Amino acid sequence: MALTATAENVKELVDSLNFSEKVQRALCLIHEAYREYGDRLVVANSLGKDSMVVWDLAKKVSPDIKGFIVTTRFKPVETVAFMNELVADYPELKVFSNDEEIPDKLYETAPDKCCDILKVQPTRRAIQEMNIDCWITGLRCTEGRTRTDFQEVEERDKGLIKLNPILIWHEREVWEYLALNKVPVNPLYAKGYRSLGCAPCTHISSDPDERAGRWIGTSKCGGECGIHTRPLKVDYQI
Ligand code: SF4
Repeated sequence: MALTATAENVKELVDSLNFSEKVQRALCLIHEAYREYGDRLVVANSLGKDSMVVWDLAKKVSPDIKGFIVTTRFKPVETVAFMNELVADYPELKVFSNDEEIPDKLYETAPDKCCDILKVQPTRRAIQEMNIDCWITGLRCTEGRTRTDFQEVEERDKGLIKLNPILIWHEREVWEYLALNKVPVNPLYAKGYRSLGCAPCTHISSDPDERAGRWIGTSKCGGECGIHTRPLKVDYQI
């Protein structure tokens, strides 16, 4: 499958393809991107279940594919421990963060600004320092209201392709893949979380929306940190 030949209406594929066909489609997309971009293809690993699927898929395409993790001072201890184990197993996962001082409880008073400083800026730095022309994400169009309009292959930033190889997967298919392939997952899922982020902004929720537990009580509830919505390919100096 050529990268440019992906379906325009991917939403139809969410229910028309079966699990096995979706796995093959994702592998083909990553394979094609690796053929085109080689070392300039990198996986963004958020340490969540979807990222672990794309990380495992990428490693099936080539063990040489690298990745990056953006972490913050507010990540739960379980996520930090999981990250440390993963990086020990995969030293080709590079960790980025931003340690600059920010006002107390900025995540309550201005969560968009907090995410911009702690998540978007280090992502920009990763893209610049790792010389990335194509990044792979675990974004899925069934995750919630803010994720319905993405495509499998996008160029929101000129010169930076974003590949979303599991865009059309259901949540249950993510778990199916992880179980069948014995992929390790963040232990927070066992406690009932469905979508993971920083500790102050992530809660267990019984809402049907998978991302409903994110930023509860703020204008950003169920929303986005910005790495999928803000420009990333910019000259960034820290
Ligand atoms: S998720 Fe919350 S704590 Fe983390 S960067 Fe965003 S606003 Fe700040």
